[in-house]
Amino acid sequence: MQTPSTTPTGPRRVLWSALALGVQLSAPFLGQLGGARVIGAQAAPGAPARARASQSSSIEAPRSTPGVSRELAEYRAKHVRDVRYELQLDVTRPDTAMGRVTVKLMQDRTTDIVLDFRGQAVRTVVANGVALQGAPHDWWDGAHVRIPAVYTRAGGNRLEIVFASPIAAAGASIIRARDVTDGADYLYTLLVPSDANLLFPCFDQPDLKARVSLSLITPPSWRALGNGSLVRSDSTASHRTHTFGETAPLSTYLIAFAAGPWSIVTRNAVIAPRAAPTPLSVWSRRSRASEVEADTLIAMNARALHWLGDWFGVPYPFGKFDFLLAPVFPFGGMEHPGAVFYNEESFIYRERPTMSQLLGRQATTFHEVAHQWFGDYVTMRWFDDLWLKEGFATFMAARMQASLDPTSNAWKTFYLRNKPVAYATDATAGTTPVWQSLGNLDQAKSNYGPIVYNKAPSILRQLEYLVGERAFQRGVQAFLQKHAYANATWRDLLGAIGTAAGRDLTPWGTQWILRPGMPVVEQQLTVRAGRISHLALVQRPAQPSVSGRGAWPIKMQLLLYYDGGRTSTRLPVLLNRDTTIIREAIGRPAPSFVFANAGDYGYALVLPDSLSVGWLEQHIGSVRDDLERAMLWGALWDLVREARLAPARYAALALRELPNERDEQIASALAGRVSTALTRYSEPAAAHALRARAESVFLRGAADSTLPYGQRKSQLDVAISLARDSTSMARLTGWLDANVAAGLPLRPPTRWAIVTRLMARNAMDADARLRAESLRDSTSEGRRLAFVAEAARPMEETKRRYFTRWFADQSLNEEWVTSSLRAFHDPERAELSRPYLVPALDTLSWIQQNRRIFFLGSWLNATIGGQQSAESLADIDQWLRAHPSLATDLRQKILQSRDELERTVAIRRTFHVVTP
Ligand SMILES: [Zn+2]
Repeated sequence: MQTPSTTPTGPRRVLWSALALGVQLSAPFLGQLGGARVIGAQAAPGAPARARASQSSSIEAPRSTPGVSRELAEYRAKHVRDVRYELQLDVTRPDTAMGRVTVKLMQDRTTDIVLDFRGQAVRTVVANGVALQGAPHDWWDGAHVRIPAVYTRAGGNRLEIVFASPIAAAGASIIRARDVTDGADYLYTLLVPSDANLLFPCFDQPDLKARVSLSLITPPSWRALGNGSLVRSDSTASHRTHTFGETAPLSTYLIAFAAGPWSIVTRNAVIAPRAAPTPLSVWSRRSRASEVEADTLIAMNARALHWLGDWFGVPYPFGKFDFLLAPVFPFGGMEHPGAVFYNEESFIYRERPTMSQLLGRQATTFHEVAHQWFGDYVTMRWFDDLWLKEGFATFMAARMQASLDPTSNAWKTFYLRNKPVAYATDATAGTTPVWQSLGNLDQAKSNYGPIVYNKAPSILRQLEYLVGERAFQRGVQAFLQKHAYANATWRDLLGAIGTAAGRDLTPWGTQWILRPGMPVVEQQLTVRAGRISHLALVQRPAQPSVSGRGAWPIKMQLLLYYDGGRTSTRLPVLLNRDTTIIREAIGRPAPSFVFANAGDYGYALVLPDSLSVGWLEQHIGSVRDDLERAMLWGALWDLVREARLAPARYAALALRELPNERDEQIASALAGRVSTALTRYSEPAAAHALRARAESVFLRGAADSTLPYGQRKSQLDVAISLARDSTSMARLTGWLDANVAAGLPLRPPTRWAIVTRLMARNAMDADARLRAESLRDSTSEGRRLAFVAEAARPMEETKRRYFTRWFADQSLNEEWVTSSLRAFHDPERAELSRPYLVPALDTLSWIQQNRRIFFLGSWLNATIGGQQSAESLADIDQWLRAHPSLATDLRQKILQSRDELERTVAIRRTFHVVTP
């Protein structure tokens, strides 16, 4: 089998084939070039000399390299300003957008102008009224359009470029999603972080913000959404032209449009204190319009806009606000100013949603709306500071939820959604600092991941706790005012907060922003004669080889738990050395347990002492505070992951407490951990006895009508995923026939989960069930889930076919591939997917170039996550040794995913026998 790394099928091939075919340009664009003068060696005798002078001069723009180098970005940011793009795109063809852009800019000197463009074709370039001479490859190398200094001038410049860009299901900046229900095509863009230059020639760097005027030519019946307001719409029999007003200054990665036969619902809402109501619209596919909870979603967005404008001290800064539910969207959402895109799949429910799903939708909404200020209004200067916008958006989403709905226990949700994920990456040998150096924009995708999404908001919570809420808010407000519609770095932010707090935060930033890795805090507790004789918190780096030595400064709350929580004590503690002895605690009565990070203000993996573990194993369910209970369950789980507590013991404890657990999110986390303990961390033989008990607990939980719906549903989901023997298979098919499972009505997503499980277990009538379900649910979602179910089939031929198709089939949407990875790499059938471990690693460079931001992480997590053996771990290590010159970012991503396999192997080795 040939891997894709040796058979390129991505944009590079598309590019050359398009050039070879000679892409035809639309008449409207060509017509506008008629008036251009032509300059050449004879027509402009002075030109060659000036060009030579420019090339040998020290002020020449950097040489072109692929992508956008930091050097090029810095050069342009220094010499270019006041950029405007007038962008016209004709998207009436299925595979190609015909474009024309007028770029206006000020330049402080006469120098080459280098624009970034890696689309399909450049036809003509006219600079300041003069057409560039020669063939396209003279000034376009597939990555950059270089306009020699001879054509440019100090002061105002006007460039007109006619070009073509791809439209495709995957690998293009204009994504085409076909609705199989009604055959309609929907287009939307996704330019983050480095694909604006795949769409049109531009300065693709966040700190050259530009005002954008977009006009789109579409089929006559289509509607179009852009960052700016629609100001005109002109129709002819053959097409419609949508003209949008000029935007506020935007970074290129934030430019967006959508076009297609979208359905629109508009409501008036108040989005700023004392402001009049303004119209907000939600856009969705026609075939799903009736399922959209338009009023709920519009109200949720409006509430967030209102609250954030108040908190930041800046009303919503981009005029109009609309949002779109994008089909087969590869992210949860994208914060384009004025035109936010959300993932349709997580915003429209095909079955009754659990609380986790509802909270997830709200968190995504609040996150994207917070970006309108943090990311859109003030933008990081370069993607090394990606954490600034992502960390803030997630932190502010929780802050807002805590304020808007004080009973929601928002910080518990924040803990559950962020901390375990952050720790699971940050404690690996592949971790990175929050601030990540970035030499070239085309590697920016690697900077995305749990460090910026989950660690960054966690350290902002720590920072707010350190300086106090008021100083934190005042600092953020000053930062936003100072850098309005412009760019800033983390030093600017810490400077502003430090000024408001009256302290220098530089040492704090050095430790938390620049230093990679994280602390592990071990509790040491000694009790003599019923009193505390010694209590210490001992800090060490999770990965000394990555983080170096020395303590992180951490401000936490230490909980001494007494008397069922009624007379507990919380001591503020400052950890700034390896061992911190808690002198205030010595001599106090022995507590039931201690916990170093009460309230979850600190960022550290806290490992409880044995006395506390002993008490918690007996009484954890009696801890009433939901956040504390969630964190204590998390701390015990961390002991499992450190191979200090047997997974079967944790599973038995969780199964004992689950029937009494009344918090839906905690119950769901426990159910997931039981599943991991049984299917990953325990040998199949060792898990056997506990598995039957687990299945019966989950089935009872699913059927318990006194429990909240979401709690029942999450237990049903785990019961389905654990089903193995013929009795369980028969139960699953019985549920499909009755269309009811454990008293809960079945809807398509859960029906498909059952079919996928039948496929994975090679159940007797699995094929017939798959066929029947495909007929029953022929929607786009149904087809995607059928593709997933088929990937689970435990046959060599299926695995081979999928692995090939993932790369070879260009009509296959990327989101389909992502969805099918887990089913393909079924941990219970690791022997079938293990042959693909090394080929999967061989594809990484290709994936980095051709897939979107989160794909590479999903690819590695699913591929390595499907393995559990020491032999597979050895395969990975052997591969790493054989690739000593592998790019650092890719090596780090592999090490991040490898960590869980290494832990799995260590846990299995340590705990052979079930011990409950
Ligand atoms: Zn974000």
